[in-house]
Amino acid sequence: MPLNDLSTRVAGLNDWYRLHAATEVLRHALTAPDAGRLALVSSFGAESVVLLHMVSVIHRDTPVIFLDTELLFAETLVYQQELTERLGLSDVRIIRARDAQRADPDKSLHKRDPDACCALRKTRPLQRALDGFDGWITGRKRFHGGNRAALDFFEIEDGTGRMKVNPLAHWTREDVQTYIEENRLPRHPLVSRGYPSIGCIPCTSPVDEGEDIRAGRWRGSTKSECGIHFVNGRAIRIGETA
Ligand code: SF4
Repeated sequence: MPLNDLSTRVAGLNDWYRLHAATEVLRHALTAPDAGRLALVSSFGAESVVLLHMVSVIHRDTPVIFLDTELLFAETLVYQQELTERLGLSDVRIIRARDAQRADPDKSLHKRDPDACCALRKTRPLQRALDGFDGWITGRKRFHGGNRAALDFFEIEDGTGRMKVNPLAHWTREDVQTYIEENRLPRHPLVSRGYPSIGCIPCTSPVDEGEDIRAGRWRGSTKSECGIHFVNGRAIRIGETA
């Protein structure tokens, strides 16, 4: 779809779904005839179970892309397997970098150049995994702050014409907790050990009471996103081209 047409469509969807619940937004993404082919991209992290559960209820055959950077916590890998089985997700795709062994044989690139490491282990593998899809669904939320503070339900990824859907954009931390409790869903085991946001081992640390939810990601550096939600280092908004 031409970018101008997609921009118009995305703006219309944001307007139409402005006051709708997350499940209605997700249902549109997964079932509307004109929505195209969408995948859920999940880290199987601290809050991931919410969207994974919603997807399992609405359409459990939805492709779920899980980026295994080969630097993840063992708890994440176990949680991924357990959740997949428990929720009956039938199409979870575990994606790894094809050239990590050659480009970063001792897994130390994150120390020298974390952006290059994320590009190697996350951004490029994700773009490859999304080949053939018209869009993807993310679990980002406004309360995460930073570049996410003004997030809409629907947005444009970049000039490729892919749509990104953020059904939980307006959820609060309490909404996440309530949904998990009401549906008796298992939380990632590291949450109770002080990790409200979970990524790779070298780039994730626990947070203290009162700290920002993502304060433990790339702690001590200016980096705050892995790059899968950015093109050329900046967010792409409706009406812009990459
Ligand atoms: S989060 Fe850290 S270890 Fe993981 S891919 Fe990015 S830089 Fe590498």
